[in-house]
Amino acid sequence: DYGPAPEADTEARAWLKSHADGFGNFIAGRFTEAAGRFDTVEPATGKVLASIAQGSAADIDAAVAAARKAQGRWAGLGGPGRARHLYALARMVQRHARLFAVIEALDNGKPIRETRDLDVPLAARHFYHHAGWAQLQEREFPDHVPVGVVGQIIPWNFPLLMLAWKVAPALALGNTVVLKPAEFTPLTALLFAELAAQAGLPPGVLNVVTGDGATGAALVEHAGVDKIAFTGSTEVGRLIREKTAGTGKSLTLELGGKSPFIVFDDADLDGAVEGVVDAIWFNQGQVCCAGSRLLVQEGIADAFHARLKRRMASLRVGHPLDKAIDMGAIVAPVQLERIRRLVETGVKEGAQKYQPDIPLPKGGSFYPPTLLSGVHSASTVATEEIFGPVLVSMTFRTPDEAVALANNTRYGLAASVWSETIGLALDIAPKLQAGVVWVNATNLFDAGVGFGGYRESGFGREGGREGAYEYLKPKAWAARRPRPAP
Ligand code: NAD
Repeated sequence: DYGPAPEADTEARAWLKSHADGFGNFIAGRFTEAAGRFDTVEPATGKVLASIAQGSAADIDAAVAAARKAQGRWAGLGGPGRARHLYALARMVQRHARLFAVIEALDNGKPIRETRDLDVPLAARHFYHHAGWAQLQEREFPDHVPVGVVGQIIPWNFPLLMLAWKVAPALALGNTVVLKPAEFTPLTALLFAELAAQAGLPPGVLNVVTGDGATGAALVEHAGVDKIAFTGSTEVGRLIREKTAGTGKSLTLELGGKSPFIVFDDADLDGAVEGVVDAIWFNQGQVCCAGSRLLVQEGIADAFHARLKRRMASLRVGHPLDKAIDMGAIVAPVQLERIRRLVETGVKEGAQKYQPDIPLPKGGSFYPPTLLSGVHSASTVATEEIFGPVLVSMTFRTPDEAVALANNTRYGLAASVWSETIGLALDIAPKLQAGVVWVNATNLFDAGVGFGGYRESGFGREGGREGAYEYLKPKAWAARRPRPAP
């Protein structure tokens, strides 16, 4: 029994009903007519949620023109003037927190407990934080000006939160935006744009053009865009880097990961097991910085795996609107297939598969929490990002071996180290090639701390002072003093 029927949420259903004719793109402060359409689907049931515009090159062109038209005035408001708008957006997210949380859970498949307690509050917090940077801009960045019109392309794993990570700093520092949400999860971005207009955000400051990769590509290629900020797969990131090379556009890329989760034999094992649960089963493992490679010290490996398996057997997979679940649905059948295929490959390559005998709901895209142990460090599942609820486990003997294994990846987004010996943890942490290292913790995010990767996890940072610089360009100026009067 998976709890209450999902049809329950009337506010969300009423909002979707008010757009029963389909959503247009949000350009210059209003929804426009769409030439092409596609459906966004509820991953937990396979049912259609809404009809969405497939943004064309002409839509991108109109959105860029609207953003360009708005940018001078928006920058001209000054930091304190823009801060007022950012505070209003933060409050708007809080005021409609429940609606955002339900729509996000329906559209993405993630548990309402996560959208309610993490995605939505963190999104609001990002706008509050960046209202502060807007206020400080003239003092803190006197020799910088806004980049201009920014094209932002985001993935489906944290639709509203990734919107916040992109839109808040861009707007705070005087830029205007054309945002392209992921095709699987466009709804919260459309809701955000609609409510932002009601909250008084001037037309053209934030434009949302929905669609697939082709829409994203049109945005990347548009000559009127000054910067592209992209979060998504390393493959598409590489393509965008090629496309923007040789143009004047600046670029930041937040890409994939295969982050190590290192457990030493003196670690608090119960704490580490809970850490693993958060690292790889939060958001069904569809997290760029997921601790997807467990590296456990040989002497405790069997005991640790045994504890982990017991914990896995207590995880509940169910409908996203059921507050009692730990894991929801995988975002789309194509992702589910990819996960299945990779797990099969792992088994063929010699891994032992463990999946607890827990019920999965019928009808949607569900996958159980999975452990692949005895994995070889060069195997496919140890090197490729699975982007699903699949943990691969390897063992090490010495700290040096742990570091070597941890760094044996083309990625470098995050790492997590578990040991009760502070000296050991402090020795290991700097040797790990990752944009963030967590000690006896995982998934700690702070709007004031720049988040981003090394190596093929991308470049550029989001959050804090580093993130603010990504939306500014340096401007030196000098003037000759008038000659003193004779
Ligand atoms: P994806 O690269 O397929 O899609 C991301 C976005 O890019 C979508 O909006 C998509 O429509 C668009 N897109 C696709 N092809 C494009 C093209 N040719 N030109 C321009 N835009 C294009 O990735 P995904 O499957 O949506 O997201 C999962 C990936 O994102 C994972 O690899 C994950 O690790 C990564 N991710 C990284 C971070 C981070 O901060 N580093 C955060 C979240 C997700």
